[in-house]
Amino acid sequence: MPIVEKSLVEVERTETLEVDGIDVSGDWNTFLKSRVSSDLDARILDWVKGEPQGETISRCWQCGTCTAGCCMHTDYGLTDFNPRYFIYLAQIGYEEELRKYATTIWRCVSCNKCVERCPKGVKVEEVVHRIGSYLTATGAAPESPADRFDRAYTKNLLRRGVLDEAELFREYERLEGRKTPTRELLRMAWTLLKSGRLHTGPLAHRTRGWSRMRSVLEAQLAEDDRAHAPRSRGPPAGGPR
Ligand code: SF4
Ligand code: SF4
Repeated sequence: MPIVEKSLVEVERTETLEVDGIDVSGDWNTFLKSRVSSDLDARILDWVKGEPQGETISRCWQCGTCTAGCCMHTDYGLTDFNPRYFIYLAQIGYEEELRKYATTIWRCVSCNKCVERCPKGVKVEEVVHRIGSYLTATGAAPESPADRFDRAYTKNLLRRGVLDEAELFREYERLEGRKTPTRELLRMAWTLLKSGRLHTGPLAHRTRGWSRMRSVLEAQLAEDDRAHAPRSRGPPAGGPR
């Protein structure tokens, strides 16, 4: 049977040759490229299963109902966003392929249609987010604007226990490398002042006894970071990569 998938054919040598008047030109040492990936990592699955509701990933039988009803995939035509495929890649530990979707995976809008429709009770929305978190935590996904905002928000709130909107805005602009025109800044400041939400500088509020609470929260955040670091969960089940 002829091999029709040319991309899988590896030709080492092509020669024009005549032997005893017979043209025997052609490809020599022709092989099929290996389609077997040995770069699989069971840590992804272990990590997702260790997260709240992540253990439901094991129930998935790859029927595709979630993808067929997913609003991002179907209604918005984002064909790269395929929850069934993300789950499949996590199940087999194909991190290299999964990394290609490290940004796309965050396009989930948490509508939960997939969860409603899954015949196996997989918490698809949670599982997809857990896979995304794994990719972020392992450095496969670039930090998103939402991540940077979260970082700025947490830092801001930890400072005094009350949000300083103006300071948060400045910090977020710095992280994003943006600069809002002065005129627009003044307009926003006036709006905040009128609504009584400009708690900055001398107008800043403080929470009594906050320093004690802050150290508790900081310790908890550090603990969460450690718990959510995928690589801290020991070596992959299948041995080193
Ligand atoms: S609907 Fe459920 S069982 Fe089917 S592919 Fe999606 S997660 Fe898996
Ligand atoms: S929750 Fe996310 S994955 Fe599920 S259907 Fe909605 S957008 Fe798709």
